[in-house]
Amino acid sequence: MTEQPVDKYVEDLTSRLEKAIDNLSGQKHDDSIDNHIRDSQRSVKNKPVPYREKISKLSAEVVDSNPYSRLMALQRMGIVQDYEKIREKTVAVVGVGGVGSVVAEMLTRCGIGKLILFDYDKVEIANMNRLFYQPDQAGLSKVDAARDTLIHVNPDVQIEVHNFNITTMDNFDTFVGRIRNGSLTNGKIDLVLSCVDNFEARMAVNMACNEENQIWMESGVSENAVSGHIQYIEPGKTACFACVPPLVVASNIDERTLKREGVCAASLPTTMAVVAGFLVMNTLKFLLHFGEVSHYVGYNALADFFPRHSIKPNPTCEDSHCLIRQKEYQNKKSSETIDIDFQTTEEEPIVHEDNEWGIELVDESEPATTTDEKTSSDVAEGLKFAYEPVKKEVESKEAGNTDRETAENAKNDALLKLKDILLEADMMKKMEEKNQLTKKH
Ligand SMILES: [Zn+2]
Repeated sequence: MTEQPVDKYVEDLTSRLEKAIDNLSGQKHDDSIDNHIRDSQRSVKNKPVPYREKISKLSAEVVDSNPYSRLMALQRMGIVQDYEKIREKTVAVVGVGGVGSVVAEMLTRCGIGKLILFDYDKVEIANMNRLFYQPDQAGLSKVDAARDTLIHVNPDVQIEVHNFNITTMDNFDTFVGRIRNGSLTNGKIDLVLSCVDNFEARMAVNMACNEENQIWMESGVSENAVSGHIQYIEPGKTACFACVPPLVVASNIDERTLKREGVCAASLPTTMAVVAGFLVMNTLKFLLHFGEVSHYVGYNALADFFPRHSIKPNPTCEDSHCLIRQKEYQNKKSSETIDIDFQTTEEEPIVHEDNEWGIELVDESEPATTTDEKTSSDVAEGLKFAYEPVKKEVESKEAGNTDRETAENAKNDALLKLKDILLEADMMKKMEEKNQLTKKH
């Protein structure tokens, strides 16, 4: 007997044993299914095969085979008015790591129209403490691995991927271009979600979104893995990422035990999933117009505390596009306020409160607070700035720098004058309308 037949015999026996074990455990082994899953999910070279055909119209029919029945039920429950609108929406996800990959999966399962993914990292075995990626995807680029899984999960979603770092000049331009023209109709996209882990990339997203007047949401998890946050940023209306130092959740942990230079950051799938969940929930509320879109939600895992907050933009923000957006927003808000006054206050005297026009100076000495909005120096309980806000004005005043004081006063005067002009216009229009009403009677 030669060695060859023995090997063959062992191989046959092994195969028969495997089949017998599969039959015994009731799991009929089907090589074609295995191969299909492997090919569709894992290989970048062989394009994934979606598990079903695309669905052209969402159905609310309650059958086991309808992937949208539970989502369409949101309409029946009175939560969302028109769920199918989600199919027209395009969302860019910058960074598909521990938070971004879960965000992309959630949006895919919700049937978003299009996702544009940006990342330049590769999947590593060290990422396996988080959700989404599988060990056999190690070595693949994150965006390719994500696309393959997502196409398989929901073939209706269009997935565009960019395997590059958005902070380099050429890539930044491409990134801006995709914000401008990346939608399903080659127009402006609906939302940018920042799921990156560094300041530079956040600043790049901030700059692009201020330039393009693009609403975006920022997210972050702490390096000790026990806190995180999401933040809604509407250029001109809310503080941008450059307006104030990043707002983070106060951990009440001894600073000396926190991460030191060169020490590996911690991460937990729990914190990342909570932050991803908040981010996608806020996204759905924003895109489908239901509930209340939060401006900032923090998560303190140690105390199970979720502080909420809202910050107005800083009129001395260093991002020039932020200042342009602030002006645009104030103009828009002023004209809207006048319109509303005319429709609703026919008999009532006009009472203009301090923040009627939303003209607000972020003055550290006297924070003017409205309902739940606060100035940049004032944060909700349980929150703090990542570093101390730069108090240029205060410092210069202390140093007796009258130039800055004069400039500040001039700005205040100009804003007060603007407010007066708007008030006057409001009064004139109102009187005119009253005259017309009297003529009619
Ligand atoms: Zn700003």
